[in-house]
Amino acid sequence: MSVFRDFAAQDTILALATASGVGAIAVLRLSGKEAISICNQVFKGKDLTQVESHTAHFGTIRDGEKIIDEVLVTVFIAPKSFTKENVIEISCHGSPYIIKEIMRVLLSNGARLAKAGEFTKRAFLNGQFDLAQAEAVADLIAADSEISHKAALNQMRGGFSQEIKNLRQELIHFASLIELELDFSEEDVEFANRDDLRALIEKLKLAINKLISSFDLGNVIKNGVPTVIAGKPNAGKSTLLNALLNEDRAMVSDIAGTTRDVIEDEINIEGISFRFIDTAGLRNTEDKLEAMGIERTRQKMKEASLIIYLFDALEVDSDQLSVISLELKELGIPIIYVANKIDKGFDLTAFESVGDIVAISAAQKTGIETLKTKLLEAVNADGFKTGNTIVTNVRHYDALLQTRNSLEAVLTGMDNQVTGDFLAMDIRQSLHYLGEIVGEITHEDLLDNIFSKFCIGK
Ligand code: GDP
Repeated sequence: MSVFRDFAAQDTILALATASGVGAIAVLRLSGKEAISICNQVFKGKDLTQVESHTAHFGTIRDGEKIIDEVLVTVFIAPKSFTKENVIEISCHGSPYIIKEIMRVLLSNGARLAKAGEFTKRAFLNGQFDLAQAEAVADLIAADSEISHKAALNQMRGGFSQEIKNLRQELIHFASLIELELDFSEEDVEFANRDDLRALIEKLKLAINKLISSFDLGNVIKNGVPTVIAGKPNAGKSTLLNALLNEDRAMVSDIAGTTRDVIEDEINIEGISFRFIDTAGLRNTEDKLEAMGIERTRQKMKEASLIIYLFDALEVDSDQLSVISLELKELGIPIIYVANKIDKGFDLTAFESVGDIVAISAAQKTGIETLKTKLLEAVNADGFKTGNTIVTNVRHYDALLQTRNSLEAVLTGMDNQVTGDFLAMDIRQSLHYLGEIVGEITHEDLLDNIFSKFCIGK
């Protein structure tokens, strides 16, 4: 990382930090060696080069003698800022014209426009945080639910990074012992006890497997769960969908100004959003679906991560349900079986052979809470509550898979009694992949790729 510090541009960068468009106020941010002096050239008020860090100053921004706006300028002196460089934040009135004019005078005084993610990239290059934490900044900004916010915040505060760094530290210790052996190879000594090494690799593999399997939940937290309600015509699918949605709407509509469009076909259970994919005919009871109501929606079901199979318990017997469940199982997606119309009275025990079944009345809204609990269980939402670290980022997930491969190569190597230099090579590979996650090992392409996904101004 220190290598890249030299590449960090000396330019002073500028971007709008708040959303574009009209607003009460807008904030422009400058970062770089000359941030304070550039702003000072167009600011009339206190001499900003003489003020203390973390102070705000009222004044005007001028283009020559012409006043552009009255503003509040906050000064952050390096290294006590987000980027660890000199940073200026200008709060001005939120008119696109004012923003454009202030940007114009700052640019003509030596600033340049920031590229996407450049503020966060500089913060990373200057050692403010590691790569995984930098990526969490983007997730934090994008987080739209309590649970995704919590996951991103945990990652930004370094929970995940610490776990990776600890694992890496243990491996480094062994790598150095093995490399030491290589220096004494003539003498045939073993500094790194092979049993200890094996135990360590197994331990690391366990930890890494845990992180790898958390990715499913991470994905759920970040992207929601595409869910399908399947079942024969008249099973009560639309009634159930409405029961789920209405309850949610009733809750949400308490908040004035909530846009209904946004929550259309999506419910939020304890912070996890389940998105209902509209399978053809789900809302149209007149639609002639195939006998089992499966074929038609098969394609849609493949896009789902979770299926609710709804049936009218007076219309379907356990043999029929067994046939259906065999067919559904082939999809390889978790399925929740739901017997509807419990208000008409039926015996659930008849279906016990098929497995766990939730009984509800979609029309009378009974059993809906139990169904919701099942939905959460199906996506292992518990993992989050227990405070486990959760991988939400595809890049981290990939690196973990690669780490696991190279750890396995170390174990195979030991089984085959390969020499220390080969073991050292595989251990170095593992270290490399773990290092990529936190950015201890990195290259410009990777950085550009990560930070270009940020918005400008971040
Ligand atoms: P879909 O074809 O699967 O979407 O089924 P609908 O939701 O349109 O429901 C079919 C019929 O079953 C309608 O007449 C509903 O009123 C009725 N229905 C749905 N849920 C229940 C329920 O829990 N109890 C009873 N008794 N009738 C229900």
